[in-house]
Amino acid sequence: MPKLTVKDLNVRGQRVLVRVDYNVPLEEKDGQMVITDATRIVETLPTLRLLIEQGGKLILAAHLGRPKGKREPSMSLRPVAQKLADLLSRHVAFVDDCIGEKVEQTAGALKPGDVLLLENVRFYKEEEANDPAFAEKLAKVAEVYVNDAFGAAHRAHASTEGVARVIARRGGKCAAGLLMERELKFLGDELEKPAHPFVVILGSAKVSDKIQVIDRLLEKADALLIGGAMAYTFRLAQGYQTGKSLIEPDRTEVAKTALAKAKQRGVKFLLPLDDVVAVPVKTDKLDKKGKPVIEYQEVRVNAEMNCPANAAGLDIGPKTVQAYTHEVAQAKTILWNRPMGLFEAKRFAEGTNAVARAVAAVTQKHGAKRIIGGGDSVKALNKAKLGDQVTFMSTGGGASLEFLEGKELPGVAALQDR
Ligand code: AMP
Repeated sequence: MPKLTVKDLNVRGQRVLVRVDYNVPLEEKDGQMVITDATRIVETLPTLRLLIEQGGKLILAAHLGRPKGKREPSMSLRPVAQKLADLLSRHVAFVDDCIGEKVEQTAGALKPGDVLLLENVRFYKEEEANDPAFAEKLAKVAEVYVNDAFGAAHRAHASTEGVARVIARRGGKCAAGLLMERELKFLGDELEKPAHPFVVILGSAKVSDKIQVIDRLLEKADALLIGGAMAYTFRLAQGYQTGKSLIEPDRTEVAKTALAKAKQRGVKFLLPLDDVVAVPVKTDKLDKKGKPVIEYQEVRVNAEMNCPANAAGLDIGPKTVQAYTHEVAQAKTILWNRPMGLFEAKRFAEGTNAVARAVAAVTQKHGAKRIIGGGDSVKALNKAKLGDQVTFMSTGGGASLEFLEGKELPGVAALQDR
């Protein structure tokens, strides 16, 4: 690991700004926001405990959702402070701001081992703009910076990049947390020379989002299993009918190029053989974004590759599950990113859950080396109560993929070398 890590630090008595990834899923229950999956909080505990043991004064910064620079009560980090306090078995202070006088006062009164969580940094539009003055304000309360938010490291935002530059300029240390170190080590070392067969499972809405990573992975993987809506753009490229499925008609050429590269390199490129389809019907109800809520009617298995004209494909079907499970069962290294269908709806979640079971089973039985999750696949594994059965779950979906595409992550680049 060329980057400085928390293990290289001694932060006794110092105030440490720790950027964590607490972008956890929340649901409203009886008027209160409740955390439905605390994986991301649990993952930061080793770093926090180490810094607490060292006698650091911890100030945690994070984002939650996309409040777009506005104070959005449903995206407050307050419920996270309570959850973190339970997990750490110690008091966690919370300030309903991330910069300013109140933060400075509370941070100034911290004692060694104390923990303070700041409010959602994205309540300020300056965060995502990586505004230098905002980064200065964030940095004001700390002498040391630790970034453990691998999941946000592909963004050059004030709390992931700008603040590190300010602290380094002042002569402070900027180091990776243990989670960040683990993710970089896995992605860098183990996926550079994966144990074969190396099976990649990719689900996504759009081919355009994934084409670069597909291109890179075709040079390393033995098999690519494609799910999600992007499978339909591949089907379209192969001349099949896609009905009302989500497609990108202008991406069929890149899809064809990927298929040709797979063939040329002898990489198995598996596309769904069947699917679960339904007739989408617009209702009068509006969703949070003001768009009409779609109701799916006549849900059924479609046993062929052509999609009926009036229906959309929303999950992989049973034949596909069988084929993908067979492939996963042979794997020694697995990388999984994004769900196989519209898995937020129970009726379209079976494909994703079946893949989750297959991944957990092979990890247990044949010792498949690792899995990269990313938000949704981690959620799917946890939902199927299989999360603790896989050897490694990456929490950074988008960041993992950008790293695999060969891009430098700004949040990593801003940390100091050893
Ligand atoms: P992405 O955010 O591009 O990685 O795509 C993941 C999202 O696409 C998830 O929220 C899924 O619910 C959704 N999704 C997956 N498969 C489909 C599908 N066949 N049709 C519509 N949406 C889908």
